[in-house]
Amino acid sequence: MSLDDHAEELASTLGVDKSEVKSDLQNLVNYSVPIDEAKDSLRRKYGDSSGGDATPTSKDVADISPNDSNVTVTARVLTVGKRSIRYQGENQVIFEGELADETGKISYTAWNDFGIEAGDTLAIGNANVREWEGKPELNLGDSTSIAREDETLDVPYDVGGDATLDSLAPGDRGVALEVVAVEVERKTIDGRDGETEILSGVLADESGRLPFTDWDPHPEIAEGDSVRIENAYVREFRGVPSVNVSEFSTVRALEVAVEATDSAPSVSVREAVDRGGMFDVILQGNVISVRDGSGLIERCPECSRVIQKGQCRTHGAVEGVDDLRVKAILDDGTGTVTLILDDELTEQIYGGDVEDAKAHAREEMDQEVVADTIREEIVGPEYEVRGQLSVDEYGANLNAVSFAESDDDPAERAAALLAEVGR
Ligand SMILES: [Zn+2]
Repeated sequence: MSLDDHAEELASTLGVDKSEVKSDLQNLVNYSVPIDEAKDSLRRKYGDSSGGDATPTSKDVADISPNDSNVTVTARVLTVGKRSIRYQGENQVIFEGELADETGKISYTAWNDFGIEAGDTLAIGNANVREWEGKPELNLGDSTSIAREDETLDVPYDVGGDATLDSLAPGDRGVALEVVAVEVERKTIDGRDGETEILSGVLADESGRLPFTDWDPHPEIAEGDSVRIENAYVREFRGVPSVNVSEFSTVRALEVAVEATDSAPSVSVREAVDRGGMFDVILQGNVISVRDGSGLIERCPECSRVIQKGQCRTHGAVEGVDDLRVKAILDDGTGTVTLILDDELTEQIYGGDVEDAKAHAREEMDQEVVADTIREEIVGPEYEVRGQLSVDEYGANLNAVSFAESDDDPAERAAALLAEVGR
């Protein structure tokens, strides 16, 4: 059944104009609302069988619930993010961000260009309410009326989307950042409109570091340069928040260089895992075991994945390439992660390179001697590890960039913790 058929059916049962129903339906479907849910919402909106009036109720932001079908609110615009999405083969520009009044804030998506700007106080009539991840969101479309109020509404939130890197979370939009580009790489990718150039790398500020992608390369983003980026959005990429810069973002060079932090946040394993991944984090814990697949290993020459008995899962029988690595379990009492140490860190622990390891294995006629040596070396003590934590359905992996035995006194740290708890 096409959208048109659904609209036809709905319009005739509700006794309302089909073009109006169709445009509402289109809006909801554009916003990924399943068709049945969209129809239910329109039945409520047009007052099917209730006989009641469909006039939207005027509400405080904090009182809007996913059960409301449409509402009227007076609110201040906190952020406006402009973004192009692909829907049914067409590019559509949408505007999204947050609105607030004295009682709370709420996300919105505008399907039309109402010309709204951060800081505006708006009287919004007939906004559709939809549920997203258990929370209500406002959907502004053809049936919504928007009027600018002369009097500015005081709200207990910052207007304009200025943020620091450590405060960003996937889903944030209309974000403004002052950062330094610490790594920038130009890449050609197969985009939705054919081959296209993008920039990717790492941004830093005083609060932390995050990866970024610029889908419409801005020349101001160059290695070592400080910039102000407006209208960026945040998505999750490989388990960590990633800053997305688009054709709608503005990028401006800053006269005063942004100070980038050299340090990473130090958190418990549980907190790091609960956050769903962290780009740059310090964890402290004991290595409790070294897993199989550590020490002297073989990788596929095509895809670099670890192979068993000369067989790659994807490429079949291949001539393996020798390598060194460690997969170990790090435990800090709040949780565990799988620690992955690359060839360089493994060489330091093992005290030799891949050729030494091969000679060692030949001598002992046992490939496992390398892993056994590493096991004896690292299992037990407490370590401070810095790296990138990614969390997926298979577990939490920390790809280490540094690995060293903890130098602070565990007793001292326990005392500090107790003092904190006792406060
Ligand atoms: Zn392979």
